[in-house]
Amino acid sequence: MKAFISIDMEGICGVVREIETDPIKGGEAYQQSRHLMTQEANAAIEGCVKAGATEILIADSHWNFDNLIPEELHEAATLLRGTPRGFSMVEDLDASADAALFVGYHARAGTPRAILDHTYSGSVAAVRVNGTEVGETGINAYLAGHHDVPVVLVTGDRALTAEAKALLPNVHTVAVKDATGATSAKNLHPKKAREQIQSEATEAVRDAKTIAPLRAKTPIQMVVEFRRTYAADLAAMIPTVRRVGGLRFEFEADDYLEAFRTFYAMVTIAGGE
Ligand SMILES: [Zn+2]
Repeated sequence: MKAFISIDMEGICGVVREIETDPIKGGEAYQQSRHLMTQEANAAIEGCVKAGATEILIADSHWNFDNLIPEELHEAATLLRGTPRGFSMVEDLDASADAALFVGYHARAGTPRAILDHTYSGSVAAVRVNGTEVGETGINAYLAGHHDVPVVLVTGDRALTAEAKALLPNVHTVAVKDATGATSAKNLHPKKAREQIQSEATEAVRDAKTIAPLRAKTPIQMVVEFRRTYAADLAAMIPTVRRVGGLRFEFEADDYLEAFRTFYAMVTIAGGE
């Protein structure tokens, strides 16, 4: 039984401000977040082990994908670390996995009462897959679904868990904090958060066969809206997308792999802000 874990930093218990997630300017605050993130990773890994997982791949999926502290990481997992990765937060997730777990995730761009809400990049305002608005949870869950892998656990703040439940029936969730604004939240004690993540991961992985993978109907219709014209000007370099007005793009793809690659190429070219 193989489990795939994708872990971000904004949804880790105790993390509320952008500086705490910034490897360049974050200093001590960022170092603390790395530790919190690694401990939460370990809780999820231990949960998978208890459910009988014999192979666990954890993809560090924040910023340059090199945040988890290798020495402190649970030894049952293999660590996917560093960039570039064509499939980004879900690189190397394929049909060999039995369950996918998204830990430390955050709500999509434009969500109120959500810590550091965004969708892949600060430049993106909204993304729709076949008409459904999605954030990173949905964008990555559809990729898992393409490979027939169910997303069984999603953890982050309360807004994120609501977003996940609306898209993924039967998904297990853990809300480790309750945001009162974009950079303010009531946090569980990190030890409590880890206990909940560990026990929920165990139940979620055990339930994997009863949770349906999220499949997007093909051909895929995708819409990407940027916040600023400058970013949209850069994204317009991708030849297979249609620009509709200044900020909005539409495109079709034969399957979700192609849709994901087109979307990720757009946000990579458009850059952060
Ligand atoms: Zn992140």
